[in-house]
Amino acid sequence: MNQHTEFEDLLLLYAADADIRADADIADADIRGGGRLSTAERNAVEEHLRACDVCRADLHLWQAVANEIRAHNTEIRMPDHLADRALAQIHARPSLQTAFLRAWQLLKAQALLIQYEVWPASAVVMLIGVVVALLAEKVGVIRFLAPLVAAASLAVIYGPEHDPATELALTTPTSPWKILLARLTLVSSYNLLLTLLASLALLTLIPPAMFGTLILEWLGPLTFLSALALLLSLWMHTSNAVTIVCSLWFIQYLYSSQFLGMWNMPAGWQVGFSAYQQFWEMPGLLLLLSSLLFGAALVSVQWPVGRAIKP
Ligand SMILES: [Zn+2]
Repeated sequence: MNQHTEFEDLLLLYAADADIRADADIADADIRGGGRLSTAERNAVEEHLRACDVCRADLHLWQAVANEIRAHNTEIRMPDHLADRALAQIHARPSLQTAFLRAWQLLKAQALLIQYEVWPASAVVMLIGVVVALLAEKVGVIRFLAPLVAAASLAVIYGPEHDPATELALTTPTSPWKILLARLTLVSSYNLLLTLLASLALLTLIPPAMFGTLILEWLGPLTFLSALALLLSLWMHTSNAVTIVCSLWFIQYLYSSQFLGMWNMPAGWQVGFSAYQQFWEMPGLLLLLSSLLFGAALVSVQWPVGRAIKP
C-alpha cells in the first residue's frame, strides 16, 4: 500500500516521459538526460505497473491528458509570416482615404485645444473694422486691420504659454509639427474667411471689378505677418512677437502720415521708406517669403531647444 502511494506521483512523470518518447525519434540516451525519471525509477514504475491495476488505469488517464495537450499544442499555430505581414502593414503608406480621415480627426481634436478666445476675438475686431470702414468710407481700414488680427491669432496657437494640453500633446505619438500644421490650417482658414467676408461687406464702397485688387492688397501682408508672428512666437514671448510684427506693419503707415512728412527726412531714408512700403505691395514676394517662414516654423517645433527657450 505504501509503495503504491509512492508511485502515484511518479506515474505522472512517467506519462510525461513516455510522451517525449512518443513525440519524436529521440534516442533513449536523450530521454534519460531530458526525462524526468531516472532509469532506476522508470524500471521500478514499470515493474509496479505490471502488478497494479489501479496504477495502470491511472497511467491511461495521464496518457490521455498528455495526448490531449499535445494535440491542442499543434493546433495553435502562428500564421505564416505573421510578423512580416504586421511590419509591412505598419510601414505601408496609408491609403488616401485613411490619410484624409486621420487629418480630419487631427483637425477636430486641435480645434478644441486652440485657445477658444481666438475665434470670437478675431471676429469682433474684424466686425468693428468693417463698421469703421463703412462709416469712414475707407476700404484701407480692412487692409490695415486684417494682417494684424491674423498675426495676433496665429501667435497664440502653439506653445506651453497658451496650451494647457501641451504637456499631454507632447506625450502623444502625433508629432509637434503635425499639431502645429493642424492649428495653422484651422486658424488661417478662419482668418481668410473672416477677411473675405469683411471684403464682401465693403463691396458697397468699391466697384465689383476692384474686388480682386482689394483681396490682393491684404492677402500678401496678412500671410506674411501671420507666418512671421507664428515663427517668432515659437522663439520668444507672444507679446514680444506680436509687438514686433505690429511695428513692422505700422512703420509703412508712418511714412505716409503727416507726422513724418513734417520732419525733413534725409533723401536716403526716403528711398528706404518708399522701398519698404513697396515691399508690402508685392503679393507674390510676400507669399513666397511666407511659405519659407511657415516651413521654418514647422521645422523649429521639432527642436526641443525651440520650446525650452520659452519660460
Ligand atoms: Zn499501484
